[in-house]
Amino acid sequence: MRYLHSLSNSLLVITIVLIASVFGSFHMGVHAVTFLDEPYEYHSYDSMTRLLKNISMDHADIMSLTTLGMTYEGRDIWLVKISKNVTVHEQEPAVLLMGAHHGNELPSYESLIFFIEYVVKSYANHTVDTFHDIKGAFDEDALRQRIISVIDAREIYIIPMVNPDGVEYGWRKNRAPNYGSFGNADSITSYGVDLNRNYDFNWYLPFLLPLSYMLPFIIRDSSWNYRGEHPFSENETKAVRDFVLDHPNIKISLSYHTYSEVILYPWMHTSLPTPDEELYISVGENISLLNGYDLRTHGWGNRDYLFPRFGGTIGTSENWLYGSQGILSFTMELCKTRAPTDPAVVLDYCMKHVDVNLYVALRSADIETRVVV
Ligand SMILES: [Zn+2]
Repeated sequence: MRYLHSLSNSLLVITIVLIASVFGSFHMGVHAVTFLDEPYEYHSYDSMTRLLKNISMDHADIMSLTTLGMTYEGRDIWLVKISKNVTVHEQEPAVLLMGAHHGNELPSYESLIFFIEYVVKSYANHTVDTFHDIKGAFDEDALRQRIISVIDAREIYIIPMVNPDGVEYGWRKNRAPNYGSFGNADSITSYGVDLNRNYDFNWYLPFLLPLSYMLPFIIRDSSWNYRGEHPFSENETKAVRDFVLDHPNIKISLSYHTYSEVILYPWMHTSLPTPDEELYISVGENISLLNGYDLRTHGWGNRDYLFPRFGGTIGTSENWLYGSQGILSFTMELCKTRAPTDPAVVLDYCMKHVDVNLYVALRSADIETRVVV
């Protein structure tokens, strides 16, 4: 039995190595990837902060780490910039990548931490040897050449954890106290705002069409989708807003969430198409080729089926980034479950979105939206 047991273990290892090398060769030429401990452990705010500080110190020529402001509980909202001559604002075409608007959607920031470490170390031609539980060695190949051309000629801005207080508390909203739905209660009634309902685009429309926009739900301060007292009432959304207003070279934005393996694009409050429907489809279908996810407008199924004609979600970052700033903006709903812990699954979604992020960075040079801002 013992012999059989060790034989089956060996077969398992061989199978894993075979699967890993097939997967690895797809992306990076021949090299070994081995999967170690299970389950995969996601970063905390502190471990992410330590890692980002270390990488930026070792690679200060191409990566900077600055804070955009503080959360209610006093955590920094980190901004990573990756570009050659990183300290100079070169006005190169830029992309903005964001994770963890919702604190309980761990892959949304994990994929960005992975991306940062991967592209910075690959550019420097350092072996990437500490992917947490996943070890790999990265060779010179086509992917590295793409990384070099992106870092040389683009600016990549990343806010990996928009809502660190929510991440640490393990829930969707931030952790600022609410004093009733309109801020006029004498004492704290609940905690937290859904940050992805707090951006200022058609924010008052639900008062005109309360049922189309589920007003009774989004206005209740204890609800998961509570939208806040007024647009940009929260430190986190204000930090994103002020940063974006200072960086008009941003052309494309991806905001990562989980889950359902879909790519969503505006409008998110109406079934009417934007003036950039063709451009959205062009970029979105290329993203879809890279990650295999379905491209959809907001809501489920075909745009024609979104009912009523007006209705949907108000206050998303995508509607504001696009409708107010002219930035081509997508929601990326990662994964089949909220936070998978199988290391192979984690490596798969992380690697696919290295490709996706590089693609949108390259594509950002020829993006001119037609929306009137
Ligand atoms: Zn989300």
